[in-house]
Amino acid sequence: MVPQSNTNYDVIVVGAGLSGLVSAIKLQRSGKRVLLLDKNERVGGLCGTFTQGGYEFTIACNDFGQGLVKLFKSLDVDVVFEQKKTVVHYLDALIEAPLGGAFIKALVSNEPKQFLRFIGGLIKAMLGRGFPVLGQFAEQTLAPGLVRDIVQLPAYLMGVAPYDLPSSFIGLDGKYGYGYTKPATPVGGPQVMADALAKRFTSLGGVLCLGVYAQKQVLLDNQYQILIDSGEIYTANALVNSTEQVSLYEHNTKRGVPLSMLLLTIDKSVEFPVGVHTLVHYPPNIETWFPQIDRGEWPEAFAFHIFKSDIKGRPDCYTLNCFFYMPRGITSPSLQQQQRYRTYIDAHIETLLPGVLSGIQYEYFMSPDDFETRHGMSSRVMPYIHQGAKPDNIDLETGIYRAGHTVYPPGDHAGAAVLSGALVAEKIINA
Ligand SMILES: Cc1cc2nc3c(=O)[nH]c(=O)nc-3n(C[C@H](O)[C@H](O)[C@H](O)COP(=O)(O)OP(=O)(O)OC[C@H]3O[C@@H](n4cnc5c(N)ncnc54)[C@H](O)[C@@H]3O)c2cc1C
Repeated sequence: MVPQSNTNYDVIVVGAGLSGLVSAIKLQRSGKRVLLLDKNERVGGLCGTFTQGGYEFTIACNDFGQGLVKLFKSLDVDVVFEQKKTVVHYLDALIEAPLGGAFIKALVSNEPKQFLRFIGGLIKAMLGRGFPVLGQFAEQTLAPGLVRDIVQLPAYLMGVAPYDLPSSFIGLDGKYGYGYTKPATPVGGPQVMADALAKRFTSLGGVLCLGVYAQKQVLLDNQYQILIDSGEIYTANALVNSTEQVSLYEHNTKRGVPLSMLLLTIDKSVEFPVGVHTLVHYPPNIETWFPQIDRGEWPEAFAFHIFKSDIKGRPDCYTLNCFFYMPRGITSPSLQQQQRYRTYIDAHIETLLPGVLSGIQYEYFMSPDDFETRHGMSSRVMPYIHQGAKPDNIDLETGIYRAGHTVYPPGDHAGAAVLSGALVAEKIINA
């Protein structure tokens, strides 16, 4: 649908990532007339797929929590989710994540001392005694080894060193109902999910406009005006900005390490394990190798993980993403630097998925700079490292609402992004 520049919308939402989509649906459903804009030609932001070398690959976001599933259900969005496992390969041990009853049981019977130290540390942390960051909790509570490393796995998944991840991050799942303890993946892949959200929005009468870049947002005579790249101006009574809020962070705020990826097309004869979403190669001693990455040094060992895209692809093959972090500062690695990582990955990937190397039909190394150029977004899973509160959902000076994964609520993932979208919509509805 073409937006009318002479129409005064109730709300304009800039950015059709997950947070913007959720905000737009909730607002439209409440009876507001909503215009949703995105600079890209597809919806979903970091959550979706793209084509490379003629094959469809997942862009970034791929595994979700039950909080998001419940929210979509409450908005009558037509997506089917399934529950799949993450399997972590740590030396000879196979550990299922997130840690559940089986891990605790094994811990109690095999390492009772570690279990008691772990529980003692948790109680102390819950009482607010010490351990502001996960690395400190792990080092001061647990002896080096499997348990200590596994407890710090969330730091790897967020792309930050354990000494940078607030311990409170672990408690957010229960506090905000994100539900990552029971991860879910959308059947058909992340783009199917994003498209279902867009379909719900337009079916309610919302106006979706893709391929338009919002250049300027101004408040004039109690009206918000958006200037887009074609020169047109749209006006509304309220404005939601769901783009990454760079200007809200101090100039020198530390940022998460950007993610790099190897895009692989694999012959179907190489069977990805049924019921598994992610396979992780996780070497011991994250306290050594992640700080090296964080300091911009080349680690001898590093973690990486692979997952299979649930995309209707070609009959003879499927696509895999292999995610990893290069040393901070290396955002456009030379061929030699790529090869250095590739040699390590090749040496370990067969343990995760036997036969994968001989099954490769196509491969592409996507660096952080390449990702940014291609998608117009950053590949930092945790965009900014914040030890305190995230910026609020409203700019008190202009009255512009803010949604997305760089603002309240805490947590740096799709669960927090969609919750921010819902909270902002509620604020506007109740204003
Ligand atoms: C590599 C990677 C892997 C991840 N994996 C997971 C995962 O498995 N599970 C999980 O829960 N989270 C994951 N995350 C985090 C998750 O992707 C984000 O938290 C979530 O997708 C953010 O949604 P959003 O709506 O806030 O922002 P975005 O997805 O960034 O959407 C913002 C939108 O705004 C648009 N936009 C920007 N500027 C303008 C402009 N000027 N005009 C118009 N439009 C504009 C963009 O095109 C984009 O569509 C991952 C992140 C990364 C980087």
